[in-house]
Amino acid sequence: MRTGLSRSIFAAAVLSMAPALATQACAQSPAAAPAVDAAYQAILADPKVIKTLEDIRADDDTAFAEQKRITEIPALPYREKVRAEYFLKRMRELGFKDASIDSEGNVIALRKGSGGGRPRLVVSAHLDTVFPEGTDVTVKEKDGVILAPGIGDDSRGLAALLSLIKSINANGIVTTGDIMFVGTVGEEELGNLRGVKALFRDHADIDGFISIDGLGITRVVNQATGSHRYEMIFRGPGGHSFQEFGLPSAIHAMGRAIAKISDLQTPSDPKTTFTVGTVSGGTSVNAIAGEARMAVDMRSDSTEELLKLEARLLDLVKQAVLEENARWKTDKMSVEIRLIGDRPAGIVAMDSPIVQAARRAVAVITRAPRVTFAGSSTDSNLAMSLGIPAVTIGGGGEGGNWHSRNEWYKPVDAYFGPQNALLTMLVLAGLDGVSKPALQVRQGK
Ligand SMILES: [Zn+2]
Repeated sequence: MRTGLSRSIFAAAVLSMAPALATQACAQSPAAAPAVDAAYQAILADPKVIKTLEDIRADDDTAFAEQKRITEIPALPYREKVRAEYFLKRMRELGFKDASIDSEGNVIALRKGSGGGRPRLVVSAHLDTVFPEGTDVTVKEKDGVILAPGIGDDSRGLAALLSLIKSINANGIVTTGDIMFVGTVGEEELGNLRGVKALFRDHADIDGFISIDGLGITRVVNQATGSHRYEMIFRGPGGHSFQEFGLPSAIHAMGRAIAKISDLQTPSDPKTTFTVGTVSGGTSVNAIAGEARMAVDMRSDSTEELLKLEARLLDLVKQAVLEENARWKTDKMSVEIRLIGDRPAGIVAMDSPIVQAARRAVAVITRAPRVTFAGSSTDSNLAMSLGIPAVTIGGGGEGGNWHSRNEWYKPVDAYFGPQNALLTMLVLAGLDGVSKPALQVRQGK
């Protein structure tokens, strides 16, 4: 069912929510809860906000059409330009005449608040996909299910962002803090968060960060899973397997390394993982391999554990090379270690205003306070690693088969996504004359 609540029913639902929310807040989050609660009470009593929530719901079909349109514009890693230009055009059409593309390729629109620029909150979604050149990105529909690579990740986030922008601009919503709406580049693996890295480098005055990525709004990401990825290239002289027997082998050296890595032990809390994801090398069955390569992925919810694991693993790889050289009494085997992926880890406290604001928004929108907090690797990683409050929230709807050509999406209550983003944003940035910003201005920035 897609029909929404009438204004009065919505208001009643919100009011009936209040005692349950307050109880939950007291039990789990003393620090920010009263301020966030007060902000919600005030904001949800504001007719403009109620109207904006309704407009977002009414915009559901248009937003879904937008989502499909965006999906059909390919956005390869490092080649997001055409999609970025389309997104810029839409931002301008929705009222941000000064929206622009920065030096890294991010699309940025600054929406000034009444409070002189602070706090400054970023609300974003990512432009890039994981799909290589030539991938068929045509949107197909089958029995109400939409199939297309990237239809959810993150076309939904981008469409939710545009629906939110359209509705707040149409209703003349005035926030206290500034909002920066951003379509980021380089979120997916090869991009290594280059978009947000540039954003935080160029704007030292960002006080909070929201990424709309993923779908279900009851899942809120407040932990950043960090990852380090390496390519390791083992090199030796190589030679005939019979005539030149006695030379070190790149494949044998790599095998020694993999055997050692396989035996590593890592904590389950904070979750810390490793894998040798790909291997290749050698030229023929009767040749001592002159070259072998492997790619290694390491992840952790804790930077400290990630760095510990990394130090141990790199040491084991070097040890394996020494052993291969010692076995053949030579020094001809070497390894080149290249960092190919670097995403920092971080966590935002459960009692911080941004987590409390996100939690409360979900409860209000879904009318049930069921929120799952999770760790993930998203644009929020960078903010969290810098100590800047951040959450990643869902864009709305259902879907699956992420990063595959069979990615699917179903627009079930899709408008919950932009509604949820609206409330979280208003509580954090403050609504002029109605509620103070729950987000704190970072000192010295
Ligand atoms: Zn994504």
